[in-house]
Amino acid sequence: MSATVRHPAFRSVSDAQWSDWRWQLRHRVTTLADLEPLVDLTPEERAGIEARAGTFPFAITPYYLSLFGGPDCPVRRQAVPHVAECEPSADDWSDPLAEDDHAPVEHLTHRYPDRALLYVTHTCPVYCRHCTRQRKVGDARSAPSRADLDDAFAYLERTPQVRDVLVSGGDPLSLSDDRLVEIVARLRAIPSVEVIRLCTRNPVTLPQRITPALLERLRPYHPLYVNTHFNHPKEGTAEAAAALDRLADHGFVVGNQMVLLRGINDDPETVAALGRFLLRHRARPYYMFQCDPVAGTAHLRTPVHVGTEILDALRGRISGLAIPHFAVDLPGGGGKVTLAPPRQVAHDGAVRTFRGRGGRLFRVLDPGS
Ligand SMILES: *Cc1c(COP(=O)(O)O)cnc(C)c1O
Ligand code: SF4
Repeated sequence: MSATVRHPAFRSVSDAQWSDWRWQLRHRVTTLADLEPLVDLTPEERAGIEARAGTFPFAITPYYLSLFGGPDCPVRRQAVPHVAECEPSADDWSDPLAEDDHAPVEHLTHRYPDRALLYVTHTCPVYCRHCTRQRKVGDARSAPSRADLDDAFAYLERTPQVRDVLVSGGDPLSLSDDRLVEIVARLRAIPSVEVIRLCTRNPVTLPQRITPALLERLRPYHPLYVNTHFNHPKEGTAEAAAALDRLADHGFVVGNQMVLLRGINDDPETVAALGRFLLRHRARPYYMFQCDPVAGTAHLRTPVHVGTEILDALRGRISGLAIPHFAVDLPGGGGKVTLAPPRQVAHDGAVRTFRGRGGRLFRVLDPGS
């Protein structure tokens, strides 16, 4: 695979600068005035940018921007505001997963007995238009202080049933290497914490951030898992592939959490192509999420049956390793539920009838209890 073709505006940038994540962050596009000369904006995009400036602004790395095609491009639609974000819908929440209600201490959500979600920063290289946490991402003032995080660590110390800590945000890789390593080391020093997961979209929006130096420094704290967030095979560039390869080479176990988005990735071919890209780079499709009912995302949400139909189309056709769980995170804090296409068509005493390959019916004699 060859390197991403840069947007013409960045062609004169040296390779060293282009592949330096700090350069990418410093040159993020965050204003209409800076975006206008780079992208032939539609009136709907321009209106969206103006309307959302005060509520959920945008930010785009030069790398991610270089993947943009026309207005329907699945990458562009994830990053550029659209006037449809201002349309209210019947089901709009600010904090759909009630994360702030299940917070025993600030900046930590403890919903499932053995897992906790820790928010270490509220910034990200690119602000995804479908973000569930848009109530706080991008707002630097709401980021936790050192003392706040000490409270969270103390909570984990007195709550030994938490074995799995998800380090999230924002994007934890927005922190400096020193700060991130400090946090991970602090968690690893808690004996009851077995697994640490880093939840980061940097492999997608800023793959240059996945440096060998950072990974070498994190290596002593394994087992470290990475939950990343590829949504479309177009994001599977040479740079993203190299970032995933580096993670696997350094012993990280990578899982992908995609979000179903209307007109962006809501068809079996796209999900299958994304799954094949991930498997080639030793990352496993993990979840395919129903888009949460966050205000501003109504135009991106798909009907729930789309998710089960995609699974139905994929099962048996592509490697089972490439098939994610389809999950709905219940609004109001009900937790995740997974949905699968119904394959059992009848259940009569000890006989269960299933629809199998080619749509044919197969009977299974259920072993007695
Ligand atoms: C999704 C989530 C987790 C992790 O769930 P898994 O199914 O183990 O990936 C943990 N805590 C919260 C609050 C979550 O929303
Ligand atoms: S990277 Fe994650 S937290 Fe950041 S804007 Fe995207 S979805 Fe939200």
